[in-house]
Amino acid sequence: MREERLGAPQGTLAGAAIVFTVVLAACLFGIGTRPLGFLAAFWPANALLLGIFVRFPHLQSPAGWIAAAAGYLAADFMTGGEPLPTLWLTAANMAEVATGSVLFRMVSEEDRRLRRPSSVLYLFGILVVASMAAGVVGAGAAPLFFDSDFLSGMAFWVTTELTNSIIVLPVVLTAPSLWPMLQQMRLPEDRVTLLRCAAPALTLLASVVVGALVGGPGASTFHAPALLWCALSYPIFPSVVLTMMVSIWHLIAISLGFFASQVTHHDGYMISGRLGIMLLALAPLTVASINLARNELLARLEQLATYDMMTGALSRAAFMQRGSALISQPMRSGPYAVLMLDIDRFKQINDTYGHAAGDRVLSAFSACVRSSLREADLFGRVGGEEFSVILPNTPREDALRVAERVRANVEGLPIPIEAGAPLHITVSIGITHQPRPGPGPTLLDALISAADRALYIAKGQGRNRIVHADA
Ligand code: GH3
Ligand code: MG
Ligand code: MG
Repeated sequence: MREERLGAPQGTLAGAAIVFTVVLAACLFGIGTRPLGFLAAFWPANALLLGIFVRFPHLQSPAGWIAAAAGYLAADFMTGGEPLPTLWLTAANMAEVATGSVLFRMVSEEDRRLRRPSSVLYLFGILVVASMAAGVVGAGAAPLFFDSDFLSGMAFWVTTELTNSIIVLPVVLTAPSLWPMLQQMRLPEDRVTLLRCAAPALTLLASVVVGALVGGPGASTFHAPALLWCALSYPIFPSVVLTMMVSIWHLIAISLGFFASQVTHHDGYMISGRLGIMLLALAPLTVASINLARNELLARLEQLATYDMMTGALSRAAFMQRGSALISQPMRSGPYAVLMLDIDRFKQINDTYGHAAGDRVLSAFSACVRSSLREADLFGRVGGEEFSVILPNTPREDALRVAERVRANVEGLPIPIEAGAPLHITVSIGITHQPRPGPGPTLLDALISAADRALYIAKGQGRNRIVHADA
C-alpha cells in the first residue's frame, strides 16, 4: 500500500509544524481536564502523536521528533510547569511514542489500520509495552515531584496511558481520508431506513443516559450491548469514534466519582475504573475490526461472483439474474432489445498469436463494447467469446443504431499485441426486440435463443454484420 502523505515532503518545516501544533493543542486540552492536584484524567497527546507517526511515517524525521518534544514542553511551560518535572514528563511521553512507533513497524499495514480480526490484539500488546515504557520513565518522577512512590507512579502511568491510547489511537488509525469519506457519505432516503440506521446509536445514547441515572458500579457497563450493536452495524470509523466518546464520558464520570456508590474517590478506584473502561472498549473495537474484515471479504466474493475477471463484463449467472429482473419490470425496461455478440474467427487469433493474445483481445473487445453502451445497459460474458447485451428503454430503431455503433467501434479498434502490428477484429451481432416486458427467466432464455439464431445467420452471411431476428 502506498504511504499516505500529510504536510509537505519529508523532513520539511510544514510536517514539523503540523506535529508541533497537534501535540501542543492535545497537551493543552489534556491539561485543561486535569482535576485539582491530579495528573491529567484524559491525555490524548501521546496517542494522537503515535497515531500520526504510524499513519504518516515520513513525519518521523528528526525535525518531527524535535517538533513533538517542543509541543510537549511549550504546553507545560505555557501553563506554569516547573522545568525539571516538565522535562521528565516529556521524556516519559516521548518514550511511549517512540516504543509504540517502533513496535507498530513490526506489524502489517492491514493490522496498523485495524483491518483484520487479530488487529486489536496486536494493538493491545503494543500499547501495553508502550505504556510500560512511559511508566518506567515517568514513575521515576513520582517520589521526586508528586509525593508518591515508584510503584504507585508506575501503576498510575501504565493504566492512564493504556486507557488513553486504547480509546484515542483507533480513531487515528482507522480515520478515512477526508475527501473520499465526504464523497461516499449519503443520508438514507426514507424515514424508516434513516431510523433503522440511527437505531444502534440512539440505543447507545439511551443506555448511557440510563447508566448515568441508575449509577453504581455496574452502570459503567450498561452501554456494552449497544456499543457492540453499533460495531456490527456501522463502518469501522464511526464505531471507533462512538467507542471513544462513550469511553471519554466514562473517564470523566469516574473522575467525578459518578459510578462510586459507596466507594470513595481514591487512587485504587481510579485505576480500577480506568482499566475497566479500557478493557470494555476492546470488545467493540474487536467486533468492528472483525466486521470490517468480514464485509470486505463478502464484497470481494460478491465481486468475484458477479463479474468476469478477465473482461469486467457480468458473469453469465449475474447477467441472467439481473437481466430477468430487468425485463420483468415495466417501469425499468420499457421496450427493450437483447443482443448476442460473437467475435469473428476468434479461433484463428488464438492459433496464430497464442492464447495470451486471445485473452488481451477479449478484454480490449469488452472495454470497447462497454464504452459504446449506456450506464443502464447490461453487458455479460455468456460464453468463451460470446457476449450478450440488454438495452432497456430502447425502441427498435435505436437498438439497431446501438448495435451498429458497437459493430463499427469494434471494427475500428486497434488492439496492441506484443509481437508485431496491432490486431483488428470484427464482431457479428444477432438482435431481437420486445415492445413490452414479460415474465423474466423463461422469456430471457427465449430471447437469447432468438438473438443467437440471428447471430448465426449473420455468420452465414459473411460476418461483421447485424441481423435482426424478426427481419
Ligand atoms: P466464428 O467467426 O464462426 O465465430 O469463428 P470463431 O473462430 O470465433 O469460432 P468460435 O466462436 O466457435 O470460437 C470460439 C473460440 O474461442 C474457441 C475457444 O478456444 C476460444 N476461447 C473461448 N474462451 C476463451 C478465452 O477465455 N480465452 C481465449 N484466448 N480464447 C477463448
Ligand atoms: Mg467467434
Ligand atoms: Mg463463439
